[in-house]
Amino acid sequence: MKSHPLVLATRNSGKIEEFRRILDEIAPGEVELIALENFPDLGDVEETGKTFEENSLLKARTICLATGISAIADDSGLCVDYLGGDPGIYSARWSGTHGDDKANLQKVLNQLDGVPREKRSAHFRCVTSFVTPTGIEIAQEGILEGYILTEPVGTFGFGYDPIFQPHGSQLSLAEMSAEAKDSISHRGQSLRAIAPRVTQMLATLG
Ligand code: IMP
Repeated sequence: MKSHPLVLATRNSGKIEEFRRILDEIAPGEVELIALENFPDLGDVEETGKTFEENSLLKARTICLATGISAIADDSGLCVDYLGGDPGIYSARWSGTHGDDKANLQKVLNQLDGVPREKRSAHFRCVTSFVTPTGIEIAQEGILEGYILTEPVGTFGFGYDPIFQPHGSQLSLAEMSAEAKDSISHRGQSLRAIAPRVTQMLATLG
């Protein structure tokens, strides 16, 4: 069977492994995932969109155009109801410093100081996008609902995992194994939903 090239528009090694695992489950050997590292001259795509979907499509389109190869990208974040949906698309830099996970989650905890459990509802959202050089564009959302805890719990994962408890679970995301988190996560859901469509579209490109 022919293997179809697909560029993954992320430099995050955890995400690369997750994409690979899910695509291999759905279509073993059908997709040749190419990491962004193979294109060292490509700069980071500026996330100028106002929604997860806009930013996700922007990344996939830009990388597809620059490489001439079909591309897949995602954009994700934490939306807290009490904060009107913030930090949302600003999740990675909520404290002011991009990627400072500790400071970012501490800022959310400070903003929810004294807020009771029933008002601490939140969700993680992820939009995965797929774009081909022939102009096909697909975007797929995944959502994980839960609560913001009052202090960080657990050491696994990244980002806001230590302060997020999914509905129906006694554990924070940072207390779950990678496999347990993948099976319910916003990213896992959007990826599993888009993967069959991606492999189908790639096959039609020949
Ligand atoms: P991006 O999709 O790589 O731009 O990630 C946005 C930010 O959202 C990350 O830096 C994290 O702060 C947060 N985030 C997204 N997904 C997760 C998750 O699964 N766990 C914890 N934090 C997350």
